[in-house]
Amino acid sequence: MTHQPAIPELTAADPQIAGLVEDEARRQAEKIRLIASENYVSQAVLEATGSVLTNKYSEGYAGKRYYEGQQFIDQVEQIAIERAKALFGVDHANVQPYSGSPANLAAYLAFASPGDTVMGMALPDGGHLTHGWSVSATGKWFNPVRYGVRKETGRVDLDQVRELALEHRPKLIFAGGTAIPRTIDFPAFAEIAKEAGAVLVADIAHIAGLVAGGAHPSPVGHAQVITTTTHKTLRGPRGAMIMTDADHAKAIDKAVFPGLQGGPHNHTTAAIAVALGEAAKPEFRDYAHAIVANAKALAEALIERGFDLVSGGTDNHLLLVDLTSKQIGGKPAAQALDRAGIELNYNTVPFDPRKPFDPSGIRLGTAAITTRGLTPEHQPQIAEWIDRSIAAAAANDEDAINKIAGEVRDLLAAYPIPGYRA
Ligand SMILES: *Cc1c(COP(=O)(O)O)cnc(C)c1O
Repeated sequence: MTHQPAIPELTAADPQIAGLVEDEARRQAEKIRLIASENYVSQAVLEATGSVLTNKYSEGYAGKRYYEGQQFIDQVEQIAIERAKALFGVDHANVQPYSGSPANLAAYLAFASPGDTVMGMALPDGGHLTHGWSVSATGKWFNPVRYGVRKETGRVDLDQVRELALEHRPKLIFAGGTAIPRTIDFPAFAEIAKEAGAVLVADIAHIAGLVAGGAHPSPVGHAQVITTTTHKTLRGPRGAMIMTDADHAKAIDKAVFPGLQGGPHNHTTAAIAVALGEAAKPEFRDYAHAIVANAKALAEALIERGFDLVSGGTDNHLLLVDLTSKQIGGKPAAQALDRAGIELNYNTVPFDPRKPFDPSGIRLGTAAITTRGLTPEHQPQIAEWIDRSIAAAAANDEDAINKIAGEVRDLLAAYPIPGYRA
């Protein structure tokens, strides 16, 4: 039972770390991973990530570097850029941001100054820290205005977005977030941003794979700037990209380097190129639609068992469940589910009366289980396990939880993951 690609040198040189890598690989194989921001990358992506490209410094951009020896690195980065442009249909792509948070910071640096007003979705309603939440640098150094969802529908209140935008005239408006189970209306955001004179930044970190695969409408042609991570539904290495129209390209490139970063992580760039190549294949379109089909089937199965879903369901890969009616907090539920072999995260729900560290909800996503081949037919069983685990947690019945973990392992044995060979 070993990690793939195999790690014999690491095992010899540092058995302690190698052992933990093996343990983590087995853990990922034995769990139903429903963390909405996670996935399983291909072995090709793993190999690119573990390559000698990690040895190379290449501050600057292809053809304009500050170090010699870029004969091959320039080609790698250029291929990643061309693939991003073709896949998403954008004028320009920057593949250097270290991750999603620095990518968003580049949008601030490019189009706003400290103290300027910016607008994003409130964190408890589904927004991201970097959209101006108070504990983030983006909330401390800028003047954030926050929109949210409607209480009755759990969906973005576009009337409020428009009202706030026209009243406060932000420099940037962020559309997107980390816990939004519904389609984002990019044309509506674009109209509001235009009226308010703001740059619209579509943060598609969660849904990039769905957009690439045609399972969610694209922000291209609506948002001038599109930021995304590459490791969520897009199924690439941990990293990020910023895509822009021609008018906003230069400012973004300058903000990423030299504005925020030094040398790009070339091993990551190579792995992004590989992942974008995979995402351009017809199978990836099937994958993106299968993610949504699984999420809809899981939503239906949970609703049948009396679970209360924010917005009543899902359009994408993500479900937000309010556990108030089940009389258990999100945190004890998530911890019990983890012991039962079902991994997810506790999460605030809109208008949550509880504290963020002990909120009312859990968040689920289907990108990773879809990668391993689970289908809509499996979702009633997963919902049943979730229901039983939560009941067992409420009854303090650890035996019942252990029994579920065994059942989960039995099912998953037939669905191997890339990165681990049993
Ligand atoms: C995940 C995420 C990010 C941040 O990505 P990191 O790679 O964790 O820094 C930014 N925006 C949104 C909407 C996200 O979901």
